[in-house]
Order: sequence, then C-alpha cells, then structure tokens
Amino acid sequence: MAKKQFKAESKRLLDLMVNSIYTHKEIFLREIISNASDACDKLCYQALTDEAVGMNRGDFKIEIAADKDKRTLTVSDNGIGMNKEDLENNLGIIASSGSLRFKQELGEDAKDTDVIGQFGVGFYSAFMVSEKITVVTKKYGSDTAWKWVSSGADGYTITECEKDSVGTDIIMQIKPDTDDEKYGEFLEAWRLQELVRKYSDYIRFPIRMEVSKTRQKEGSPEDQPEYETYTEVDTLNSMVPIWQRPKAEVTAEEYNKFYRDKFRDYADPQRVIYVSVEGMVSYKALLFVPGATPFDYYTKEYEKGLQLYSNGVLIMDKCADLLPEHFRFVRGVVDSPDLSLNISRELLQHDRQLKIIAKNLEKQIKTELLKLLKEDREGYEKFWKNFGRQLKYGVVGEYGQHKDLLCDLLLFYSSTEKKPVTLEEYAARTKEDQKYIYYAAGETAEKIDKLPQTESLRDAGTEILYFTEEVDEFCAQTLMKFQEKEFRSVLDQEIEEGAEKKAEEAAEAHKPVFDFVKEALGDAVQDVKASARLKSHPVCLTAGEGMSFEMEKYFQSVQPEAAFKAQRILELNVDHPAFKALENAVDADPEKAKKYAVLLYNQALLIAGLPLEDPSGYTDLVCELMQ
Ligand code: ADP
Ligand code: MG
Repeated sequence: MAKKQFKAESKRLLDLMVNSIYTHKEIFLREIISNASDACDKLCYQALTDEAVGMNRGDFKIEIAADKDKRTLTVSDNGIGMNKEDLENNLGIIASSGSLRFKQELGEDAKDTDVIGQFGVGFYSAFMVSEKITVVTKKYGSDTAWKWVSSGADGYTITECEKDSVGTDIIMQIKPDTDDEKYGEFLEAWRLQELVRKYSDYIRFPIRMEVSKTRQKEGSPEDQPEYETYTEVDTLNSMVPIWQRPKAEVTAEEYNKFYRDKFRDYADPQRVIYVSVEGMVSYKALLFVPGATPFDYYTKEYEKGLQLYSNGVLIMDKCADLLPEHFRFVRGVVDSPDLSLNISRELLQHDRQLKIIAKNLEKQIKTELLKLLKEDREGYEKFWKNFGRQLKYGVVGEYGQHKDLLCDLLLFYSSTEKKPVTLEEYAARTKEDQKYIYYAAGETAEKIDKLPQTESLRDAGTEILYFTEEVDEFCAQTLMKFQEKEFRSVLDQEIEEGAEKKAEEAAEAHKPVFDFVKEALGDAVQDVKASARLKSHPVCLTAGEGMSFEMEKYFQSVQPEAAFKAQRILELNVDHPAFKALENAVDADPEKAKKYAVLLYNQALLIAGLPLEDPSGYTDLVCELMQ
C-alpha cells in the first residue's frame, strides 16, 4: 500500500519536534488528552440536539493504558471519532491555529526549541516520544472504522479496520530509551499521574487509568501484616474547571497556565478577570486581557468571542454576542447553569440571559481596565500599545454610543508631559480659564513638535495632545468635549486677545500684498490672511470649516478617487523678513513676486504634511530663485 506524504510544513514541524529538548517532550500527553476532551465535547454537544446519540455528559471518559512489555501507551476516548476524510484532513496536515502561530515564530527562532513547551502543537507532539503512532477510530453515525499508521516524517497509511464502539484510540509506540532520554518513563503510572495533574487537571471529563496498589491481606494479623497488590481504575484529574474554583484557591500561575494552554498564547495574560454572579442570572466567568496583540488581531481572520458553557458542557466555542466590539481582544470562558441547553446556536444569539451576562461583563472589563490604569500605569501603557487603537475605534463606532463608557480609558501623548496621558489628567491640569482641550494632528510626535501652529501654545506652556493615528481626530470629533471642555485643534485655536485685531490691521496696512498673493494663487487657496498666531515662521496653512488636513489625508489613503479636500487658508506672518521681501517684490518686480507667492504656498503645504501639487515645478522655482 502506497504511503501518503505529509504536507511540507508538517514535515518541518515534525523534524523540529523530534529534535526538541527532553523537558518539553512531556507535553505530548496534554495534547493528546486535550484532543480526546475536544472529541467528547463535540459529541456531548451533538447529544443536546440529537436524541439518537443517547449519551449524557457523565457518560464520556478518557482512558489511559500503558503496556510496558509492548512499550505502548494508549489514550482512548468515546468522543465523536473520525472518518477517513477527517483523518486525511486533520492528521495529514497542520491546520490548527496554534500551529499556525508556531509557524510564524519559526523564521529567526526556528532553532529555539523553547517555544515548543509553550505552544499547543497538537497531535504531532506525540512523535517526540513515539517511533510509531496508530490511530484507530470510528466516527459517530458511521459503520466503518479506520486505522491510521505513521512512523513520522516518511508519511502515513489509512486502512479500514474493526472497532466496536464510537471513539478514538491513540496508540503510541514509545521510543527505546537512550543514554540521555528515558522514554520508558512515559509508561510508568506515577509519571502519567503526575503529568495529568500538571497539565490536564481541569479537563472536565474523567481521565481514568488502571493503577496497581497494595493493601493489607484480609485476615493477616495486625502485628505481622501481609500485603497484596491489586489493581483499581482511578480518576486522575480533579475535573473541577478552574473557573468553578474559588478565586482565593487558585494561584496566579495556574490562571496563566490555563490561559496559555487554552488560548494557545505564548505570553501570559496581562490581566485576569474573575466574575462570579448569583442572582437573576447566575454565571461564572474567567476572562483574560492578552499580554500581546495576536498577530492576526487587526485582520478579518481574528474572531472575537468567549467560550460558553452550561454547567460544564461546551455550548459554543466563540460566542461573539458575549463581547462588545470595543473589547473584542478579551478572551475567556463563561459558564452559566441558567442557559437552556436545547436551544440551537442561532436561537442562542437572542437569548435574553445572554444579553444580561454580556452587559455585566462589559462593565467588569471596564472596571478592571480602570484598575489597571490606576494601579499599574506601566502595565496599562503596555495594554494600550496592544489594544488602544481598538478602544478608539470603539469610541468612534456605532455612532459614538459607547463613548461615555470608553472615554476615561483613552490615552493620548501630551506635549508637556512627554508621555501618554488620560483626558482626566489633562483636564485636571488646565488653568481655570482654559476652555479647550487642545490637540494637534500629525504623523509623529516629532513632526507635530515642529508645526508652526503649535508654537505659541507651547511657548505659553499650554498642554497639547498629539494625535498620531488616523482615528484620533475622529475620536475627538465624536467625544466633542470632556468634562465640559471642548476639543479644539491647534489649527483653529483661539487667538490671544488683541492679536486678531492686530492681524486685521496688518492685513489692511498691507492690503495690496494680500490681494496680489490671492490673485497669484487663484483656486489653490480659499483665502490669504495675515496670521495672528505665527511667531517665528513665515507661513502656515489652516483648514477652513469642516474637514481637517489629517482627515483629508485619511480619506486620500482610503478613497483616493473621491478626492475630498479640506479648504486651504494661507496665513502669512507680516513681521517675517520673507514677507518684507515679498512686499518689495510686489512693487518692484511682480513676476518675481508671483514666484515668491507660489514658493510660500508650497512651503506651507510641506509643513502641513500635504502633497505638493507640482513638486518638480517647485524645485525648479527654488533653483531659479537661487541663481
Ligand atoms: P487542534 O487540536 O489544535 O485542532 P491537533 O493537531 O491537536 O490540533 O489535532 C488535529 C485535529 O485532529 C483535531 O482538530 C481533530 O479534528 C482531530 N483529532 C485529533 N485527536 C482526535 C480525537 N481523539 N478524536 C477526534 N478527533 C481528533
Ligand atoms: Mg489539539
């Protein structure tokens, strides 16, 4: 019979596994048991809606059997089983999300086998300890059983076989011992017991194994006892899901391990949120704020949702309705005995109880994030780096209906503090007569620092929030104000008293120059004004009512063909020597003055970070004027 080949990436992973260091090899048992548990979950779920299954949650079990003579370790389950197609698709290629992430890590660190212990690498990990693996399986609802055999990298075979009951046996032919590696340990009851307790204690189906014990022989005298050995089947795991255990009894490391294992993350969670509610709707929830941004987080591959259980029975793997969009980064489980089990997944979405739980969880998550902000600023800043953008999207999304919930979680970079600050902190620092929360938008903090329009505010020591992400300005527009203070762009800041008047007078005094520049620039600008705010710079550009330049840039990037444009108002600093030069030219050499006007306008575009309409024309002009 022809052997089938593994897909290339599976082969690579296999090589890596086989060569991994010894301490990591033990995790194979966790992987095999997790798969057995998943299979039980699947059939248990099916039993809810399909009476023909005829099984209750209590009927499912996972059995471990070690045969030292044959050197085989067998893990059996009475879960859903696999048909031929499943075997091809599931064991022939690596498709699991955990493995996918693992692959991402390969590149640089391909040799760093440390990652193996932390990733759920699945079924393949069994090859770390086995020279051959046989899978005997029968799928629920099928009459045929199948046998899959593989000795690792050289491929696998699938043949029909006999099996009475539905479920799967994973039979591992354990490798011979070497000088350094005693694989035989994985056939010892004490070692298997230890591993189950270490990695799989929370598995909610009993993991059973026959263990030999000793007892005093019946009738043997107390002073001269005789002993005999006998065997008994023990349940090795405590089966109490971690979220059912009182918080005080669970260590931080247990929570972290549960998280890493269950959600296939290499990093510890940044925050663990435990919720236990008794009342109209009773439920327990164990939620996690991840410590790193999932690599696919901002793509459509990422699916939000919490695992939903009813009394320990998995109902749904990713229940999206339990999480609002703005907290979609949260992972975790919810278990409620009050959910009616007979409803289908579709109906579940409209479940009233589910809505109540979701609403409560939203509040809890907010409270925990605030706590993190107050108690561990550094930690919060790390969280903000990972998921801050999501919260800002949350403010802007759904017509701003979540802005009140989210506004005190926001951070923006402050010009005076030189670090991210909250709106509350900003508001607390404002002088009494400051009516506005000032912001300036630009690509980076460094670039905003150099904006001429921020100069006078910065000179006055006024704090400015720097908006460096596209969503920031939309965020401010949605919020409109915070603690009665309106958001205001530095581009349309209020001008110092008197400055406005002075500017008007200046415009009047130099009227011919302004008329000339307006004429020279034509449609490119809406207006040309004497600036009331410029100090050391000769020119700047401000946007008219409505759209700002940052918004124009945003629309330009997402919808270039629509060509939304902000109105351009050119401001000239009449006290600047450049203005004097312009004024002289208007009188003496109008041709040259025209060139000056174009030059100044282009400089204003550059400072605003807007594209020049005619870059080569501009450089020609500069060179011409240099000659
Ligand atoms: P993952 O568990 O992340 O999907 P694995 O490599 O552990 O990745 O397993 C691959 C797939 O093989 C599983 O998704 C499942 O479909 C199937 N599988 C493995 N073990 C069993 C089992 N005991 N019963 C039924 N299906 C199984
Ligand atoms: Mg698995």
